[in-house]
Amino acid sequence: MTISILIVDDEEAIKETTEEFLKMSGYIVQSAGSAEEAVNILQTFHPKIVLTDITMQGMDGLELTQLIKKKYAAEVIVMTGYCADYSYEEAIFAGASDFIFKPFRFEELNLRIKRVVREIKLKKKHVELIRELKDFAITDALTNLYNSKYFFENLPKEIERHNRYQHPLSLLMIDIDKFKDYNDSWGHLEGDKVLMKMGEIITSCLRSMDTGYRYGGEEFTVLLPETDLNQALRVGERIRKALSEKRFYPDTGEEVSVTISIGATEFSTHDDLHSFVKRADMAMYRSKNSGRNTINFIPPKGKNIQTA
Ligand code: GH3
Ligand code: MG
Ligand code: MG
Repeated sequence: MTISILIVDDEEAIKETTEEFLKMSGYIVQSAGSAEEAVNILQTFHPKIVLTDITMQGMDGLELTQLIKKKYAAEVIVMTGYCADYSYEEAIFAGASDFIFKPFRFEELNLRIKRVVREIKLKKKHVELIRELKDFAITDALTNLYNSKYFFENLPKEIERHNRYQHPLSLLMIDIDKFKDYNDSWGHLEGDKVLMKMGEIITSCLRSMDTGYRYGGEEFTVLLPETDLNQALRVGERIRKALSEKRFYPDTGEEVSVTISIGATEFSTHDDLHSFVKRADMAMYRSKNSGRNTINFIPPKGKNIQTA
């Protein structure tokens, strides 16, 4: 990682020698003679570190530090003379990562920069780790879909969005047909392969704002924002067809197909979370009762729907 640094100092000699030293040490460097000039440069140059003097005409280094911490993703090292009125505490409180007294030896400056760089790398790793952990907590490992915990986290948010903007919101409830028989015939591991394939199929049929969940063992839900019941039925039908056309080979010489039953519904203003999910579930059971491998819907109360 090449580190970029912005030097801010109104003392020309310090600014120039520091710039020269840092460039020679392999950093990408730009410099400014005032905090105002630095703010200008920051519009186009995005340094990892800002090395700023504190006492300057106009905006001082502490104000600049506060501004950078608020608006930019850069670490700040402040430089000050021994007899200046500013303390280490003030600089750290303003958001600076480190503090160096002038005049300084370049070797010392370089060490401090290296320490801050190490901190930047650690911070990045930390953020990545948190993201991975968060993904892990909301993902179903077998299907790579979201898990039901996340479904119940997301659903209220989508309902809230629906209530605010009155955009349609639809839900599919999907259940694999006679899956117990499949497991009993071919074993649990072969059953797991079907679940994995379901994850792939659902994912491949969704747009970026749609979300697919493993709701339970062999049950899935799909949440479709900005989607009315007619469009939801089309998505459901795509998923149903894709699985029914897929062939599984659970044993030598065996070619098997698997089907799903789907229930679809659209949210209405009379709904709460439970009535919405329950209606999709009831629609799914209609599919089970009408012979499986099909999709049924129940329109929301008060809404007359002409399906395509
Ligand atoms: P129906 O068409 O009425 O839905 O019949 P079904 O057999 O699919 O329904 P049932 O609820 O009786 O059985 C569900 C089966 O799903 C039983 C269970 O072993 C299987 N199952 C649930 N979770 C998993 C899993 O993680 N892996 C595998 N292989 N099977 C699972
Ligand atoms: Mg089931
Ligand atoms: Mg089932």
